[in-house]
Amino acid sequence: MGSNLFDLTGRIALVTGSSRGIGKQLAAGLADAGATIVLHGRNAETLAATAAEFAQRFGQARIFSYAFDVTDAAAVAGGIAAIEAEVGPIRILVNNAGIQHRVPLLELDVADWQRVLDTNLTSAFLVGREAARGMLERGAGKIINICSVQTDLARPTIAAYTAAKGGLRNLTRAMTAEWAGAGLQINGIAPGYIHTEMTQNLVDDKKFNSWILGRTPAGRWGTVADLAGPAVWLASDGSDYVNGQTIFIDGGMTVVV
Ligand code: NAP
Repeated sequence: MGSNLFDLTGRIALVTGSSRGIGKQLAAGLADAGATIVLHGRNAETLAATAAEFAQRFGQARIFSYAFDVTDAAAVAGGIAAIEAEVGPIRILVNNAGIQHRVPLLELDVADWQRVLDTNLTSAFLVGREAARGMLERGAGKIINICSVQTDLARPTIAAYTAAKGGLRNLTRAMTAEWAGAGLQINGIAPGYIHTEMTQNLVDDKKFNSWILGRTPAGRWGTVADLAGPAVWLASDGSDYVNGQTIFIDGGMTVVV
């Protein structure tokens, strides 16, 4: 174990959905801790812009980017194989790519239900399974699944998302059951209400915003910066005996009524 438990120097980290939003900030946090970063998303233009920004900030040699759809099993297998061949062994995987779809349950189309389940839950199985193959061979790896307060709590109009994020906590446990004995640590991070592009409409909604401020013991929205420390911890040697947990980073929302 190194003298700095949280040093990620030389470790390759793939963060899915890191071209923007929370994933981008998580990737920046891991890069700040020394990791080599594989940025990811589908839109090539957004990805290239983020890669250029990261190269400037952290140095070209530590920044890579790959575009593939996390819901497509063949594309995932090809993407992971290419990263391991061209960049090197993936030591840290953050399953972050996700989408939201708000509609009352009675009006929820099967296709939309499926798309939300595929993107938020099946993706973590597909990317996790492919990345774990090499990690298991090498006897080391960290997988961080990005859950949500909806892992624990339901709200109207987001049934598919709630089901997917609840499933993601149990997938975290299932991965632990099979892979922890081979030296992998798999944990979840469950962000509360974080101010991002995805939630800007909620921040702008006066009624919802005042509900959040009143309902959150910390009395504020989370920021993407609030997530970086826990992500670095769960990616580092500092969490080597933390297995299968989902850590809520929610200003206390899920522990106080
Ligand atoms: P975002 O800003 O919409 O970013 C989503 C990222 O995922 C983008 O990079 C997007 O890139 C990528 N992506 C989406 N579908 C994909 C697919 N099929 N294949 C590959 N990449 C895909 O979302 P965010 O707010 O940062 O959320 C990130 C994660 O945090 C999600 O899992 C979300 O559920 C979770 N979360 C967010 C909040 C919040 O308050 N924002 C709270 C709790 C949890 P492309 O579109 O180019 O593919």
